[in-house]
Amino acid sequence: MTQSASPATINHAVIIGVGLIGGSIARCLRSRSGVTRITGVGRSVANLDEAVNLGIIDSYTNDVPTAVADADLIVVATPVLQMRPVMEAIASSAPASVVITDVGSVKAEIVKVADETLGALKSRFVAAHPIAGTEHSGAGASFEALFENRALILTPTDGTDADALATVDRVWRDTGADVVSMDVESHDRILAATSHMPHILAYTMVEHMARQPGSERHFELAAGGFYDFTRIASSDPMMWRDVCLTNKTAMLASLNAFVYDLNSVIDSISREDGDALYDLFTRAKVARDRALYRRRKD
Ligand code: NAP
Repeated sequence: MTQSASPATINHAVIIGVGLIGGSIARCLRSRSGVTRITGVGRSVANLDEAVNLGIIDSYTNDVPTAVADADLIVVATPVLQMRPVMEAIASSAPASVVITDVGSVKAEIVKVADETLGALKSRFVAAHPIAGTEHSGAGASFEALFENRALILTPTDGTDADALATVDRVWRDTGADVVSMDVESHDRILAATSHMPHILAYTMVEHMARQPGSERHFELAAGGFYDFTRIASSDPMMWRDVCLTNKTAMLASLNAFVYDLNSVIDSISREDGDALYDLFTRAKVARDRALYRRRKD
């Protein structure tokens, strides 16, 4: 990283992908970071009209080069596999002083795409991932408090400009997020276990149940625990398809390790090994209760 680290003044911010995350960061940029002009970029006019009506953005276009021509900050908040063409379009027309960031749920692939597409602007890119979200999508689902007291992971590289890093760091601190930095491999490995795998389990469990004969009755009779466990299976399928395809290695490692453990539970149940089951459930309860206690105390 180069020296000198004052955050840049942001007059004009461009949000590419004004959905749950893009809309929420836009709301924070306006009310917490004092940004006066926010342009949205997207494909569906209905979503962008809603974003204007809600005061999230001031105007919109579906043309990335037009939007970014005089941008101070660009936030790429599309699904992960949409980011390559978006970054190619940014590279062709954003000013040299711009700061570019993203919010994607995987980091190694996005940093690689930024490296391959942004050319002279690649040192202006700071990859970021807010560890916050809901199962809802679109501008209407966004809200200003989404990032408060939630972790925000930055994955700068040796080539990241210090002032770009300082700007993105400040923007996220303004949202109320707790900003931490790590390398892309650690990010992708940790998130595979804590976020990506749980989404796959939730989707698979619901789809498995839906395929059983009489499943409608089963869904009616399912208790709150089933719906707590599977809330995230209502998330956007495209987003999670993209995450699986772009964090394949870390996800397969997590899923294979989990399948091994699941087989060991199946084995304990087959052998009617009550002690093994009781011990496993106790260890899990203690670990979860401790983690929740620490989270509430922080
Ligand atoms: P979302 O609510 O569906 O928003 C994505 C937005 O991107 C949509 O408004 C979509 O609008 C727009 N879009 C899609 N392709 C585009 C393109 N080529 N050009 C311009 N706009 C495009 O999804 P989200 O939950 O905010 O997720 C956005 C990003 O945040 C993803 O990369 C995801 O990995 C990351 N993320 C999500 C969560 C979460 O819990 N949801 C948490 C952290 C990070 P149109 O289809 O109308 O264009």
